[in-house]
Amino acid sequence: MPSTFVDLSHTLDENVQVYPGDPTFSCCPVLNIKQDGWNVHNISMGTHTGTHVDAPYHFLAKGARIDDLPLSTFVGNVVVVDVTRKNAKEVITWEDISPHSDVIQRKAAQKHGVFVFLRTDWSQYWKSDAYLEHPFLARDAAQRLIDLGVKLIGVDALSPDETRVDGSTPDFGVHAVVLGAGAVLAENLTNLAEIQTGEWLVSLAPLKLKGCDGSPVRAFACNATSPIPTDVASALESALSSNASVLPLQLSDAYALALMLAAHELLLDSNLLVPADRSSETVIAGQAVVVYSRYINPPISQIDVHSCPALPACCATLNCAPISPMTSTSSQTIIDLTQPLVPGKVPACAGHPCYNASLNYSLAKGDFANVHALTLGTHTGTHIDAPYHFFMDGATVDQLDLSILSAVPAVVADLRAKTSHERIVWDDLTAAADEIQRSGARVLLLCTGWSRDWNTPNYSKHPFLDPDVARRLLDLDVQVIGLDTMSPDKVTEEEETADVHL
Ligand SMILES: [Zn+2]
Ligand SMILES: [Zn+2]
Repeated sequence: MPSTFVDLSHTLDENVQVYPGDPTFSCCPVLNIKQDGWNVHNISMGTHTGTHVDAPYHFLAKGARIDDLPLSTFVGNVVVVDVTRKNAKEVITWEDISPHSDVIQRKAAQKHGVFVFLRTDWSQYWKSDAYLEHPFLARDAAQRLIDLGVKLIGVDALSPDETRVDGSTPDFGVHAVVLGAGAVLAENLTNLAEIQTGEWLVSLAPLKLKGCDGSPVRAFACNATSPIPTDVASALESALSSNASVLPLQLSDAYALALMLAAHELLLDSNLLVPADRSSETVIAGQAVVVYSRYINPPISQIDVHSCPALPACCATLNCAPISPMTSTSSQTIIDLTQPLVPGKVPACAGHPCYNASLNYSLAKGDFANVHALTLGTHTGTHIDAPYHFFMDGATVDQLDLSILSAVPAVVADLRAKTSHERIVWDDLTAAADEIQRSGARVLLLCTGWSRDWNTPNYSKHPFLDPDVARRLLDLDVQVIGLDTMSPDKVTEEEETADVHL
């Protein structure tokens, strides 16, 4: 399913610009391919380093912490307000925003709600002194956005409040209003010009940092550009005209229809689709798609999903349940697949850094905010491995294409019958392989059930993948293999194999 992804994040490197006084960013090798067989880095940074989100606990001692907030908080439709005419240190007022209040209100009522991003284009000054001189939002304008139902305000600048470099404390009015309302802020966004027009769904999913006040994020927007294939549309059309209510479709067709259903929300909103009864519209179950034809008007072939956000496409990256027909029985659209990061309670392979978080600024000690300093490894907790983990000339994590990391639909293989240190062989995956070939899925998730043993001695005794199976999966064009274990390879006290990694 072709989609467009826009990266809204700054790259984290040794020159990251941080808020005055915040922990700096560093990334140092602790294991390397030559001596150890693989590359692993230790990362030190703050909870507000680079492109990041602020949780209410940043400014409120009793506010929600980053891991208290459901993942749905960080997924939203977006309205980008162009305030690029503003000069250094100029105030952004309600008059600058009010022409957008209708569209903000409309999107606030849609599924996933609405984020408002203020586009100052100050991101062009990132890593320079001028970056600190950004325009900033008036407190009452922030309040009016909250009153409109906005769940997150984002800026392509260091802060939505004034930043002072003379040591005096600025008025943190926007932080107070937004975080005080239980909403969230996003700072240091970039590339907002690219999502100024069109319909975008934005993900700002944070790290699951237990008890922390914010988190760096990989911010991105995605947008579907593919209409329903004409053969699917005509098949549906003829079936509907015969008033069939159950259509036996190919799985790929069902997937296309799932995308249409994602558009459904928008289409309802624009009065293009007029369901007689919103309580029972469409159900996808197994290999059959059930469509209540009387609810669909105009004919499906006339529905243009060109401008609809690719909800299914987002889902894999957002740690959501893939909307693959095989797995779409869940009514939830966002499921968190991430283990929590708790100091001292994150299992790590030998030689890997431990996770730790400590208060750098503390409200309890009279500081203006809570800010944590973090240390973690590049393979801490729920994570992805880039080819550079094992290959000196392999792609590094910042070089991976967002569309690969979100390549959906995904297939989940149920391997919960496997036992400790048992080999996962091709026979275990034949059904999943069939599904991959039928649906064109690029992501295979292996569900062993081992996540229940997270942070116990049993966690490393997981089943492991046969390297030949991994090769056959690559031949099927699978680009991401995910597991609920510590490694796809066998890990014992005596040896740590790496055949599947290689
Ligand atoms: Zn922040
Ligand atoms: Zn890893």
